[in-house]
Amino acid sequence: MFKGEVVMVTGATRGIGKSLAGAFAAQGAMVLIIGRNAAQAMAVAAEIKAKGVLADGFGCDVTDFTSVQETVNKILDIHKRIDILINNAGITRDNLLLRIDEQDWDEVIKVNLNGVFNVTKAVTKPMLKARKGKIISISSVIGITGNAGQANYAASKAGIIGFSKSVAKELASRGITVNVVAPGYIRTEMTEQLADPVKEKVLEHIPLNRFGEAADVAGVCLFLASKAADYITGQTIIVDGGLAI
Ligand code: NDP
Repeated sequence: MFKGEVVMVTGATRGIGKSLAGAFAAQGAMVLIIGRNAAQAMAVAAEIKAKGVLADGFGCDVTDFTSVQETVNKILDIHKRIDILINNAGITRDNLLLRIDEQDWDEVIKVNLNGVFNVTKAVTKPMLKARKGKIISISSVIGITGNAGQANYAASKAGIIGFSKSVAKELASRGITVNVVAPGYIRTEMTEQLADPVKEKVLEHIPLNRFGEAADVAGVCLFLASKAADYITGQTIIVDGGLAI
């Protein structure tokens, strides 16, 4: 489905991002694995390539504006184009408002929101030239519903939605779509850190009665990046088993 297309996935060294990269590679795309650690990013790319598909890895901290620009330039030198961007890199630093410190607030906003700005801005230039592109950012259902103990995370993820709607309006006339996927509880290292009683409580509120898998998120991203979604922009698709109904 994506033969000849170049897909850049941030935060692809593990979890949802790694699964997204594998899903696009399996559909014929050249996938670019982005993570802070270059060796780790290249190792994941090698793992994907071992399956006989196309991948490359780059070390880049999405919070570093200059490094993001340099990485995108390097990618364009080597691979000539970026057709699809998935802004997936994200972190949590959970705490109640009264206990959250300035550093935990800043770190989450920097990675989850400034990171999306930095990478989207850098990638938009070649997409404008090509007059085509698909930008998908991974928000969270928490950015829509809010959650006690996650004010920083919720603010960053809600910010992604407002940012994406604005950029969707700016780029629509150039054939570039900008959409958001808001997952609920997906089983990854990030959520494995939660205590068992917390997990049990979350499960009670999921109508489909199971936690999500990275593949559930990948399915929606493949759709949004495909020709079938050419007339969809500025939208947020929730993938949460009904949690936020
Ligand atoms: P993980 O913690 O498993 O993976 C996060 C990825 O982001 C890693 O590859 C990490 O790589 C990368 N990363 C972190 N900081 C940076 C940075 N500054 N620059 C570049 N890469 C970075 O998270 P998940 O797979 O669980 O989550 C992926 C996305 O999905 C996140 O945005 C998260 O908020 C969102 N999400 C997850 C949900 C879930 O239930 N798991 C639910 C809703 C949304 P490295 O540390 O090597 O740099």
